[in-house]
Amino acid sequence: MPTIFSKIIARQAPAEIVYQDEWVTAFKDIHPAAPVHILIVPNKEIPTVNDVTPEDEPMLGRLFTVARKVAEQMGIASSGYRLIVNCNHDGGQEIYHLHMHLLGGRRLGPMLAKRD
Ligand code: 5GP
Repeated sequence: MPTIFSKIIARQAPAEIVYQDEWVTAFKDIHPAAPVHILIVPNKEIPTVNDVTPEDEPMLGRLFTVARKVAEQMGIASSGYRLIVNCNHDGGQEIYHLHMHLLGGRRLGPMLAKRD
C-alpha cells in the first residue's frame, strides 16, 4: 500500500528533500526529534525490514552511503549521529514504507530507556 512517503518521493506532496537519486530519497522529518532529523527512504515501496530481499542489497547499501553524505551535508559527520530503522509495532514503526532515521545535532543519550 502506498504511503505519504511515495507521494513525497514523486514530489506530489510537500517535503524538504535534501537528496534524491534513482534508488533513495532523503527529506526532513515533519516532527524532528533532534536538531537534524532526516528520513532516508528507498524509492521502491518496501513496507518493512521483514520485506527486504537479496535483490534489495544494492539499494540497502545506498541508504548508508546517502546517510554518510547527508550527515556531511548537515554538518554533523564529525560530531556524530544515530541511524535508526524501526520495524512493525514493537519497533515503533508508524509509516509502512521502509526508512532510515538520521538523527544528530545534539547528544542523543542512551539508545533505549532502560527498564528493570
Ligand atoms: P517511524 O515511526 O515509522 O519509524 O517514523 C516515521 C517518521 O515519519 C516519523 O518520525 C514522522 O514524524 C515522520 N512523518 C510522518 N508523516 C510525515 C510526513 O508527511 N512528512 C514528513 N516529512 N515526515 C513524516
